[in-house]
Amino acid sequence: MANRNPTRPPAADSPDRATGRAAVYPAPQRPFEIREYPLRPVKPDEALARVRMATICRSDLHSYHGLRPNPCPGILGHEIVGTIAQLGDEVGCDLRGERLRVGDRVTWTMFFHPDHSYVSEILDLPQKSPGLRKYGHDRVEDEPHFLGGFAEYCYLLPGTGILRLPDALTDEEAAPLNCGVATMIAVTEAAGIGLGDTVVIQGLGLLGLYGCAIAKSRGARRVVGIDAVPSRLARATAFGADIVLNAAVLSPEALVAAVKVECAPVGADAGIEVCGVPEAVPLGLRMLRPGGRYIIGGLVNPGSTFHLDGNEILRGLLALRGVHNYHPRHLVQALDFVVANRDRFPFGELVDARFALDEIDEAFARAADHSALRAAVVPWATRQPSA
Ligand SMILES: [Zn+2]
Repeated sequence: MANRNPTRPPAADSPDRATGRAAVYPAPQRPFEIREYPLRPVKPDEALARVRMATICRSDLHSYHGLRPNPCPGILGHEIVGTIAQLGDEVGCDLRGERLRVGDRVTWTMFFHPDHSYVSEILDLPQKSPGLRKYGHDRVEDEPHFLGGFAEYCYLLPGTGILRLPDALTDEEAAPLNCGVATMIAVTEAAGIGLGDTVVIQGLGLLGLYGCAIAKSRGARRVVGIDAVPSRLARATAFGADIVLNAAVLSPEALVAAVKVECAPVGADAGIEVCGVPEAVPLGLRMLRPGGRYIIGGLVNPGSTFHLDGNEILRGLLALRGVHNYHPRHLVQALDFVVANRDRFPFGELVDARFALDEIDEAFARAADHSALRAAVVPWATRQPSA
């Protein structure tokens, strides 16, 4: 079966369109600049997506605030939903084996890597392949310019896992799939959460909320959520938390005691850190039962040090693991999870503010001050008063 492969970008909107607009991040803490860059026809092993929506992830904010190195000037954004505008002849199927076509609505892995390697093939850890690159992490001046979400287009380079989206799923439900949801599928898998488990989740931002919902879906008997922000605690119960504990009110000792009571008789089977606070790790380990499992999923910045008595790990027979990025299968599972549970949990409410491309400064301000949980940039939307 032959793929349609238009040689001019992108037939669906404007056949003569030879450039696209991008919100360029010039340097940390500086306003975005709307710039135009040329589009080129895709190579045989590439696709070009017209971006429908890209949401602002916490790591975009970290880059924007200069807390993590990111090439400048660049296009941030890696949680992306798009429509395929051009498809190279060698790009055949999506991650599930379904034939891709121009016009398909898709998301894709937030990373891509050039070649097979020992790490990707033998260790089965493609997410840690040598030479791995991530969308939203390249200099915009370099070809093909469009490799981030906050722009009208994004090129999908070789080594990207593309996934078709069912029509029933909204863009708001789909945008966080390739970062937040897939990451939490990987985290909860690593935590070994199964039928009847008790789980404690430290941090009830987007990752923690998905974590609560996925833990319940994996069969957890009791999920305890911990955060210090009242609005997050209130929301967590809608996402599957059986009980929430306010870390701004309870002392560390009281938190440990409360989790032990909730996860009777001897503590939680699994603990998950997604709050980004290093001191949460030794505290969370104290909440586990003998033989419990603990996953670090939120300490994404270097310098996240904490003090730990190794003897407590030994005596507790505890397992401690980190999770970074995810295997492409986790993106497929993330989609299946959201499709299967979209009536049970209000995923669509998580993306709670939409902005046009030239409103991106406001979008980042709202994400930074937490007045929007997941702000979305809709590059083809016209500027309008935001709610
Ligand atoms: Zn992200």
